[in-house]
Amino acid sequence: MLIIEQPIILFLLNVGRKRVKNFTGGCIHAVSTTVGIPQALLYYKYYPLWDTFLKGLGAEVVVSNPTTKKTINLGTSVAENELCLPVKVFFGHLLDLKDKVDALFIPRVISVESGAYTCPKFLGLPDLARALDKPLPKIFEPTFNARLGKRRFFEALFDFGSLFTSSKYKIWRAWTAGVHAQKAYEKKLLEGLTPIEAIMGAEKHVATGDLRIGIAGHPYNVSDPYVNLNLIKKLRDWGADVATEEMIPHATLEREANRLPKRLFWSYEREVVGAAFHWMQTKSVDGIIYILSFACGQDSLIQVLLEIEAKKQHGIPLMSLVIDEHSGEAGMITRVEAFIDMLRWRAM
Ligand code: SF4
Repeated sequence: MLIIEQPIILFLLNVGRKRVKNFTGGCIHAVSTTVGIPQALLYYKYYPLWDTFLKGLGAEVVVSNPTTKKTINLGTSVAENELCLPVKVFFGHLLDLKDKVDALFIPRVISVESGAYTCPKFLGLPDLARALDKPLPKIFEPTFNARLGKRRFFEALFDFGSLFTSSKYKIWRAWTAGVHAQKAYEKKLLEGLTPIEAIMGAEKHVATGDLRIGIAGHPYNVSDPYVNLNLIKKLRDWGADVATEEMIPHATLEREANRLPKRLFWSYEREVVGAAFHWMQTKSVDGIIYILSFACGQDSLIQVLLEIEAKKQHGIPLMSLVIDEHSGEAGMITRVEAFIDMLRWRAM
């Protein structure tokens, strides 16, 4: 199953079953509702699908501004200390949107494939948002749960759409347009664009570097330039090309991740592992930088798995870069520059 097919099936799978419960404020039937999509977390995976579908239903979509220091300060000011940086950043984006929209789009992503789950933070994201000590607009919280079958999916699709319009044709048209947009997006990623480049409609970066670096990690860490201190741009400026997990077919990620003796039951983390294993196995990069969030349990586990595999493969150097709200640019530059120098020295 392609990555695209997962969110399609999951997106509204469960929405219709508990419509009133799943949507704070219940049914609104507001064609002109302004819906805010935070530019954080799963935005980097599913934005084209969400955006196109919501617009097709008649909603006006507002995306929060790119992450800045202010976003992080806002998020950390309302978040529990123990939370990972990506969730704090997400809160900052909610606060950026809260006075600009009628409703916030915060899906509850439980499972995107059978037999696997997502991070517990995604399961409780709407609840975490509601628990913030700030008044927020309505929250649209469709539940993603892959355990339901196709029939339920289509029931749920129309049920969700009926919150905006009574026309089934319009709902179907909006949905198929969303699916096409997502497929086109994923095609661009496979061609070598980063999520930001694909979303912004930028040209593919021309590979001219003497090194190729694989950047492993959750897409919201790898793709948000403020969060990762502009790592992709810096690497390119230093003459290295970059590869990310989105540039690898989903079937390959699955196959590589399945080399683990025990199947990981977190879907997105399996993709991270699959990408790194693929680069190690094929030696298609000169080095791997793994960006991980401080206070993320899954990242801590993956870090160990990748280190073990890197030692076994005796080939591709691996560097871990831990990020939190206190990460400083100077320290990161020193470490990454030293890593690049070491890779060039090895290649001599
Ligand atoms: S997977 Fe880790 S970084 Fe991502 S939301 Fe969960 S705890 Fe945070």
